[in-house]
Amino acid sequence: MNKFLSLIKSSLIGKIILGFTIGTIAFISLMFVSNRHFIKQIVAPSVNNNNINYTKLLLEKIESFADTTNLNAIAQSRQISIAVKNDTLFWKSDKNFDLVDLNKLSIIDSTQNIWAGFGKGHNVVYKVNDTFVYFGLERKWEGFRYFEETILAINIGWFLIIVYLLFLFIRKILKPVNKLTDGVKKVSEGNFSVKIETTRSDQLGKLIHSFNEMSHQVANMIKSKEQLLLDVSHEMRSPLTRMKLSSEFIDDLKVKNNILEDVNDLDKMITELLETERMNSAHGGLSKSKMKLNDLINEVALQYSIVELKINDDEIEINADKERLRLLFKNLIENAIKYSENSNEPVSVKVVEKNTKVEISIQDNGEGIPEKELEFIFEPFYRVDKSRTKESGGFGLGLHLCKNIVEAHKGKISVQSKIGEGTTFKIVLPKN
Ligand code: ADP
Repeated sequence: MNKFLSLIKSSLIGKIILGFTIGTIAFISLMFVSNRHFIKQIVAPSVNNNNINYTKLLLEKIESFADTTNLNAIAQSRQISIAVKNDTLFWKSDKNFDLVDLNKLSIIDSTQNIWAGFGKGHNVVYKVNDTFVYFGLERKWEGFRYFEETILAINIGWFLIIVYLLFLFIRKILKPVNKLTDGVKKVSEGNFSVKIETTRSDQLGKLIHSFNEMSHQVANMIKSKEQLLLDVSHEMRSPLTRMKLSSEFIDDLKVKNNILEDVNDLDKMITELLETERMNSAHGGLSKSKMKLNDLINEVALQYSIVELKINDDEIEINADKERLRLLFKNLIENAIKYSENSNEPVSVKVVEKNTKVEISIQDNGEGIPEKELEFIFEPFYRVDKSRTKESGGFGLGLHLCKNIVEAHKGKISVQSKIGEGTTFKIVLPKN
């Protein structure tokens, strides 16, 4: 039941069908009640009258109730059922003829010798002396005995057919909603190049056109923001080189070193930015070759004393850009070391081969990242500790570059972290 409720809650079609079902059941029930009332109050009295007149004529043709041959002939020729019942005789023209309970019929005459009404078909019952004569009309079509039930069953049948057709119709009408949901999901994952195709011109069609327009505009805005960043970076290259050269002429060693340190920081930032841009460009992308992942990770990890490697001896060969991957592992390991300075435990690097993929995790037991910051840390210039100091490191470009390197390899990077317990970055790369 709970499963059904949550299914209805999460489905627009489910809600519409449920609304329609409740509405139709209410409609059928009201129709049923009002039909019943109408038949009882208006139709039944005149039908009863006709039936009585008709059966009176038949009664006149019966001379003796014991003459069952005559009774049978009358029943067969009129296609009705007749039954006769008294203390000594009980005869039915048709063994399926259910004798109606007299209490359910209306008493027609004041002497109380005629009953008529509807109960498993139309019935008229006479009491002649001590004998009850039952006339069951409309025997021809058995279903007619269950008139109301038959109508109800037909209504339910139609109702089920209509609900099914309605379901198909609504599903078709709401199809763009699924497309839109997929599109919005892609945009929320940062893919602004989505375009949803539609030929519809109704409100949903208009919504899709507006969505396409919106994602196009956002993509343009982001592109121009990135372009501005890159143009500025390019333009800063030459003045920085000049500053480096000029600083060589400063006599005061302390001042000179301070300036050089700042200039180098800026140079690093610009290199990271331009590197990211190269990665995104169609041609400047990766230079892939077959390489041994174990060797590369060993090489990088060896540069740091506090890294523990969990890696199999089996060689893992992948097709990748070796220098980009070196940069990726270096950035992540350096971050792990930098942000776990207070921990005594080493940073662990684990490599696991999984069919066509390889999974690399870099885990530290450091300060961790607050949960609400996790979704932003791959953005350029995003830092958890907003006040950048020389000690606390970079400009917030390292992880952005890492993400670009992984995505250029058609891989995935994800992060899990708990404040005070540590952080794990997981990279999944295809081997080819
Ligand atoms: P930065 O150069 O500032 O380290 P990054 O892009 O490499 O920039 O990282 C972005 C932010 O993510 C960092 O400022 C830091 O707060 C957080 N961060 C990255 N790696 C870790 C880690 N292993 N543990 C805790 N915080 C981390």
